[in-house]
This record gives sequence, structure tokens and C-alpha cells, in this order.
Amino acid sequence: MAKQIQAIRGMNDILPSQSPIWQKVEAVIRASVSAYGYSEIRTPIVESTDLFKRSIGEVTDIVEKEMYTFADRNGDSLTLRPEGTASTVRAGNEHGLLYNQEQRLWYTGPMFRHERPQKGRYRQFHQFGVEVYGIASADIDAEVLMLSNRLWEELGIKEHVELELNTLGDAEERAKYRDALIAFLEQHKDKLDEDSQRRMYSNPLRVLDTKNPEIQAILVDAPELMDYLGEESKAHFNTLCELLDAVGIQYKVNPRLVRGLDYYNRTVFEWVTTSLGSQGTVLAGGRYDGLVGQLGGKDSPAVGFAMGLERIVLLLETLELTKDIAPEVDVYVTAMGEQCVAEAFKIAQELRQAHPSLKVMSHCGGGNFKKQMKRADKSGAKFALIIGENELNNNQVAIKPLREKTEQQLVAREALASQIAELI
Ligand code: ATP
Ligand code: MG
Repeated sequence: MAKQIQAIRGMNDILPSQSPIWQKVEAVIRASVSAYGYSEIRTPIVESTDLFKRSIGEVTDIVEKEMYTFADRNGDSLTLRPEGTASTVRAGNEHGLLYNQEQRLWYTGPMFRHERPQKGRYRQFHQFGVEVYGIASADIDAEVLMLSNRLWEELGIKEHVELELNTLGDAEERAKYRDALIAFLEQHKDKLDEDSQRRMYSNPLRVLDTKNPEIQAILVDAPELMDYLGEESKAHFNTLCELLDAVGIQYKVNPRLVRGLDYYNRTVFEWVTTSLGSQGTVLAGGRYDGLVGQLGGKDSPAVGFAMGLERIVLLLETLELTKDIAPEVDVYVTAMGEQCVAEAFKIAQELRQAHPSLKVMSHCGGGNFKKQMKRADKSGAKFALIIGENELNNNQVAIKPLREKTEQQLVAREALASQIAELI
């Protein structure tokens, strides 16, 4: 036998058994963004490498070691998108969507990062994100957090996620803080790992984002950015906190939360769960007022977040919340004998027309009663319709319950659609 070709490590197939869970998550996303009046944007999966270098930052995990970068046939350096914000800003600038305008946008799709694959961390993964442009005040920061909170409510996982919040201030405040942080890190230089030593001068805030527990322990005593904020940044953060209090969203202020990308300023946040081990961040984001200008557009304030879909699906599975997700099929229509196939097709079609949301599967491939019933059972259908010569001659259809111990019943063909509606 020929050797089978395998999928690329860290890039997963989403199999039919799992796709109903994905569809449920996607449906909740669509309903939520629609309820808040956000519009969808779709951008290409491949972009110029420079786009990500200039936005995410040269000294970040993503740009230093995680990007899928390659030369195309013209020799141009291209990269599979590792996240969605840079592309959204690029598209917004290119099409004049951000110039003196407000935009509330959302996107979803695959992202690519060359990381060590493990539970909740893959090389192709999917994000849903929102990006809002043109609004500088903290009310919009609160709105995107309310939108994310609605997702948890609709998915039934509100009790299992917590919001962590911080502010990074503006560039000037961060510069002052940076000096204080470098001075602190210098005192502990010999205990820092290689990554942190390298970043301590090029991008010291990034050291706060370390996943190394020994360094996290050292950082407990590090100076806090909150103490370096000016009045405006403080007021922005306070307004956000007050709005969240007013709408009943609980949060914890985490002064060490800095996020792994360079473009953030002021508000940053993460929704985290303790139910997924170390891959606990399910949604993350913040304000990035400098990025639109940095990528060549006219300055525009911006705020957004991205949610990892795989982690949400894992969380739903871990919490055993996937059981009630609808089975594939409601009704399985059999045809007992070749001479019944056409009529059985018509009956199935009538049912689909009468009830557009009903899931009706027609048996194909012939076979005896036993075989067709086996297929009906495997389909997950609640009812099988038995259509044989006798039934057709009498203008009737037999409805056989497959999941409950109730009697099979014969109904007139005209009454079938209404009878099914009552049963389902
Ligand atoms: P982490 O700290 O877990 O590496 P990150 O800070 O790199 O996350 P972001 O770039 O902010 O993550 O992406 C937002 C969300 O996308 C994350 O919170 C997570 O849910 C998801 N995500 C990021 N990287 C991966 C990955 N490799 N596999 C699966 N999901 C991911
Ligand atoms: Mg990461």
C-alpha cells in the first residue's frame, strides 16, 4: 500500500464529530457581533512580512521565532498571518476606512505560529477578533469587554473565566517606567534566563510577559507601571473600571499584564480560565492608538481583542458542555425497494420545504430493512420514516421513533409535515 501523507505537525483537521461544537461557537460569535452592530472584514491569509515586523514588533516571540515566512516566486518575503490586527489596520488604511471615521469591525479565521504544539497551542489555530477605530474614550474599551462577556454568557461558561485588566499608559509614561524596570532587572541580571537578559535593554516590558516561573517570582518586587501614570492615563483607566462596575462585569487588576505584542498602550486585558492548564488565556486584547499611524495611516485611536477558538472548544469539552449540541439529523427517510426511491425523495423534499430548519437525510445505496435501519440509527436521527410499497399504495408513511420507546405510527402523507413538527 502507498504510504499515507500526514497533516503538518500542529495543524489540525476539524472532524465531523467536532464541527457541531465549532458551529455553535461560530453561531454565538455571529449573533453577538450582530447584536452590537459590528461589521465583518475578511483579509488575505498571506501578507508582506514587513507588515508584521512593523506592527507586532521585532523583539517579540511572534516575530523572533514564530512566523511562517517564505519567499514567493518573485523573491518577495511573505508571511502567513500570525494574528489579525495588523492585517485589519493595513486593509483599513488601504481602503480609507479609518480616515476620520469610526469603524466597529470583526473577523474570524486561521492564524499561523511556529510554536511547540501542545494542548491549546497549535501551529494553525483560529481566532475571532474585534477591532474598533476612531474612538479614544474608555467607553469603547468597556463596550468590547461587554461584547466578550456576552460570548461567555451565551456559551454558558461565564463562571469559568475571569477578566484581568491593566493599563500600559502612554509612550512617555512607559519610557520613564522602562528606566526604572531596567534598573530593577540589572540588580537581578545573573538570575535572568537568556531570553530575559537579551530583552532587558531592547524591550524590558517584554520580560514581564515571561512564562518562566523562576523569573516570575523575581518580578514580584519589580516596580509597577501604575505608579508612573499621568493624570490622563489614570483617568482613562478609572473610567473603564467605573463602567465595568456599572454594568456588573467583575475584573482583577493585574499590574504585570503587558501582553506579548508591542503595539498596545493604555488598556490591556485577558480573559483567563483555570480549566485548561497553562494555556489559560482564552481572549486577549487592548488599546493600540499608535498602530494606524505607524502603518502609514492618519493617526486613529483603536481598541480590540482576539479570542482563541480552539481554547474555547477545549473549554466547552472539558466542562462537558457539548452534550446538548444538536445532532446531525432529525429525520432519516428510508426507501424499501428501488420502486420507492423517487417517492421517498419527494417526501423528504416536502419535509425540507415545510420545515426549513429540520435536518432530513435520505437513505441512498439500497439494501434491506435491517441495513437501512442500521444507517438510520447511525445518523443520530430521532425518527426514521419507513416508505415501502404498502405505505405508498395507501398514501401513508410510517414514523418509527429511534430514541424513545414509543410506538411506530402510520400517518397520512398530507399530515406528515405537521405530525413531524409535533414530534420534534
Ligand atoms: P499565549 O500567551 O498563550 O502565547 P498570546 O499572547 O501569544 O498567547 P495573542 O497573540 O494575544 O496570544 O492571541 C490571542 C488568543 O489567541 C490567545 O489568548 C489564545 O487564546 C489564542 N492563541 C494564541 N496563540 C495560539 C496558539 N498557538 N494556538 C492556539 N491558540 C492560540
Ligand atoms: Mg504566544
